[in-house]
Amino acid sequence: MAESLYVHIPFCAHICGYCDFTKVIYQEEWASSYIERLKEQLDSLNIDKPLKTVYVGGGTPTALPSSLLKVILSKLSTYLNKNDYEFTVEANPESLDDEKLSIMRECGVNRLSIGVESTHLKFLKLMGRPHTFEEAKVKVELAKTHGFTNISCDLIYGLPTETLEDVKQDVVGLLSLNVPHLSTYCLSVNPGTVWHNKGYKEMDDGDAADQYDLILSEFRKAGYKRYEVSNFSKPGYESRHNLVYWRDEEYYAAGLGASGYLNGERLTFTKNLLSYLKGSFEGEREKLSDKDKKEEFFLTHLRLEEGFEDEDYIKRFGVSFFEKFEKQYESLKSDGLLTSEKGRIHCTDKGMLLLDRVLISLF
Ligand code: SF4
Repeated sequence: MAESLYVHIPFCAHICGYCDFTKVIYQEEWASSYIERLKEQLDSLNIDKPLKTVYVGGGTPTALPSSLLKVILSKLSTYLNKNDYEFTVEANPESLDDEKLSIMRECGVNRLSIGVESTHLKFLKLMGRPHTFEEAKVKVELAKTHGFTNISCDLIYGLPTETLEDVKQDVVGLLSLNVPHLSTYCLSVNPGTVWHNKGYKEMDDGDAADQYDLILSEFRKAGYKRYEVSNFSKPGYESRHNLVYWRDEEYYAAGLGASGYLNGERLTFTKNLLSYLKGSFEGEREKLSDKDKKEEFFLTHLRLEEGFEDEDYIKRFGVSFFEKFEKQYESLKSDGLLTSEKGRIHCTDKGMLLLDRVLISLF
């Protein structure tokens, strides 16, 4: 039974050139009906067990005005397992303020994920981000004064013309924020995005790997543990909600374009805002085949430093991983990509970097 919920707020004050999330420019008249429909959709999910994790992402949840933010967060707070929960809201520096932080605290939000993205003004501008790193720093401090201790900040690397020296400065800047969780993403240029249409290219794999290695070693030196290929935390600050995805567990979802995973079925709600506003939420439903489930299992678990237990593999698929993938395991092991300890299989540092190669040989 799912104990987690993802909620999507698609509004943004601006559109970033590389963005391929489900998003629309904020419009007051859309936002209030959206929140009404979202509440109806939440009711229709019939969530009857208190939730351990709720994650409000976007879009930009803090692009909502305080009044609407309060409406939706109050509603979501009623689903929480009050004794043991993680309630995360994504925020962008330019739209995070005293009032919204107070509302979040009142509604029980106990984790913030702030889109810092870069310390360099030229890259923030290139991405279409309206904040400066100075502003991001101020907002992180403001969140701390409101009592938030569980804060995550995002960093994007692999940007066009970005050098290793630029990334080094980003790392120093991010570490100076003194937050317990950091996420790093290599820029990808996906079809349908402004940057793709303009012909922007992704960074060469070798250069991107050098930037990742630098981030990994500096974050580790600073006491952060990489628990997932792109995520680093101080002990006890791993994202419980995202671990649900990476451990391939089930979760509810609500909102425009949001995807949930329930009863072995992946549901993605409509990405058409007008349909959504009319209360027509249905999108795509995909019943996962046995092959899909096995691939998903590797896709998710092998991103984690902890990997997976053979016992868990046996429970789900009725056969030992070592038996089923004997040849592939031996070959990946001798290439230094995969390893195991006490029945737990996981990638090595090299395997994390060459995750696609590991996955291809297991599919
Ligand atoms: S703020 Fe986030 S969701 Fe909105 S356009 Fe930029 S990257 Fe996309």
